[in-house]
Amino acid sequence: MMTAHFLTQEGLSVSLLERGETCRESSWAGGGIISPLVPWQYPEAVSTLVRWSQQYYPRLAESLLAETGIDIEWLRSGLLLLDVAPERPIREWADHNRCTLQAVDAAQLGALEPGLGLAAGESVLLPDVAQVRNPRLGAALRRSLADRGVVIHEHTEVTGFTVSGNRIQGVTTTQGEFGSGRVVVAGGAWSGPLLAMLDIGLPVKPVKGQMIQYRTPAGLLRHIVLYRDHYLIPRRDGLLLAGSTLEDTGYDKSITTDARHILMQKAAQLLPALGDCEVVKQWAGLRPGVSDGVPFIGPHPGYDGLFINTGHFRNGVVMAPASARLLADLLLQRESFTGAGPYQPEKQ
Ligand SMILES: Cc1cc2nc3c(=O)[nH]c(=O)nc-3n(C[C@H](O)[C@H](O)[C@H](O)COP(=O)(O)OP(=O)(O)OC[C@H]3O[C@@H](n4cnc5c(N)ncnc54)[C@H](O)[C@@H]3O)c2cc1C
Repeated sequence: MMTAHFLTQEGLSVSLLERGETCRESSWAGGGIISPLVPWQYPEAVSTLVRWSQQYYPRLAESLLAETGIDIEWLRSGLLLLDVAPERPIREWADHNRCTLQAVDAAQLGALEPGLGLAAGESVLLPDVAQVRNPRLGAALRRSLADRGVVIHEHTEVTGFTVSGNRIQGVTTTQGEFGSGRVVVAGGAWSGPLLAMLDIGLPVKPVKGQMIQYRTPAGLLRHIVLYRDHYLIPRRDGLLLAGSTLEDTGYDKSITTDARHILMQKAAQLLPALGDCEVVKQWAGLRPGVSDGVPFIGPHPGYDGLFINTGHFRNGVVMAPASARLLADLLLQRESFTGAGPYQPEKQ
């Protein structure tokens, strides 16, 4: 939908084909943190997309609210990384990315988040990191696209591509054929099997993530907090998300009691008051996993008219606007805010 958002802004006519309903898969399941969890651990190709998107999100939130009346709840809650010493490489990363970074000692931590249950040592606060609520982002984009004339075909599964020579001519679906000289594959964790229909082997594999959601008194936690592999995301209305697992279980999307117990245990260790709060929901999503976290964005050299925008792994919400902007620029054959090199679908 983000790709369609930028393509329609350029006056292109877009049809969106979705096997189920829009924004019900990974993009629904994610935490909505507008940053990687440990942002300095990623290649520059990821940071470039992150920086661009972080600038764009407040404007997007505003324009979607004005257009659709849906508030995606872009909220600058800050990201607190516990027990992370702000060593030189981290400070250099922050300078390079013009990202405000504050070193936080134990006393300051107690003042920032009095409810924490860990005796964390030196920590790092990224005060400008924001969050959005994914289902609302999905709903707002969907309404905005529909209002701009994008025809959204739900329950329409792409089952093949129509090709003449090496030119894409459209796709076949469970609802019939759709003709188009330009097709963008943005199938998330399912992009591998989709592209396999064209004998393209793209190394994107599903990585399951489970989360739980608590109902808490509003204000129990103010920042997004990360400790090792586990994090808490407080929403404005008191709902609080605890995530997440990283599981290699193929296309199995079931939730498990094991994961629920681990997430609850880690969450209560971080914020003991959660021991008295109700878990109201548990869910799982399949991330489009790639080994280095760098997505595939751009035309595929094997077929004229075939474009790819996938493989965003753990950072698909934060990287979505920049990836979609880049894809739109490449499709329109014009300069973009960054070079396409690191994202080329034939890179591996
Ligand atoms: C637990 C969890 C937490 C996360 N937290 C964050 C976070 O805090 N911040 C962040 O930036 N990212 C986060 N992510 C990652 C982010 O959610 C993903 O990278 C992103 O949503 C991927 O978007 P996508 O559109 O590529 O995939 P999806 O959202 O999965 O969309 C792909 C769509 O393609 C459709 N499709 C598949 N095959 C076909 C077909 N044959 N025909 C038609 N349609 C088809 C699917 O039905 C689906 O709707 C998280 C992910 C998980 C699971």
